[in-house]
Amino acid sequence: MEDSVLTGQEHDPDFVSQIIRYGGHDVQTCLQCGNCTGVCPVSLKTPYKTRNLIKLCQYGYKKIFFSIPWICAGCHRCYEHCPADIDPAEVFVAIRHIQVRERGVPRWIRDNVGLILRNGFGAVPSDDIRRYRERQGLEPLPNTLPGYRTALEELATIFRRTGFDRILGLEEKK
Ligand code: SF4
Ligand code: SF4
Repeated sequence: MEDSVLTGQEHDPDFVSQIIRYGGHDVQTCLQCGNCTGVCPVSLKTPYKTRNLIKLCQYGYKKIFFSIPWICAGCHRCYEHCPADIDPAEVFVAIRHIQVRERGVPRWIRDNVGLILRNGFGAVPSDDIRRYRERQGLEPLPNTLPGYRTALEELATIFRRTGFDRILGLEEKK
């Protein structure tokens, strides 16, 4: 983000009110102190920093958000350390709501949830990892799939009954 130039064309004057409508009530009262960025495990690993994201929300830069809010782990460490009692995670959840309504769920999220529903893993272990596990005397795959088949079926039922599988477009892939 630091290397990018934002233009007025990317500004959406309604973005803050949209975020507030979907539950990100504190977005306007951020002090820009940076505590949240300092404690965020995602900010440590990505170029997008929590404080910057809140600032860009305030400025109405909606377009840049359509991949970012999904990276937030929802751990709420930022909230615990915020002197203004702001919960950035709630702001990012609000942005997810907006995105799902306007653009649908990003493909990588759909693919990931599909993997969980089919295999019990969000990231299926590679052949190397399977071989490594076997060398350690373990089954090639963790016990999630064979041992918790019932849990997977329950998860699929929850997705179906809540309509989450329809939102994700997964019905036909199961
Ligand atoms: S810790 Fe709170 S006040 Fe400080 S930058 Fe983060 S959200 Fe804003
Ligand atoms: S809730 Fe999200 S933004 Fe806040 S510290 Fe955790 S990962 Fe970072």
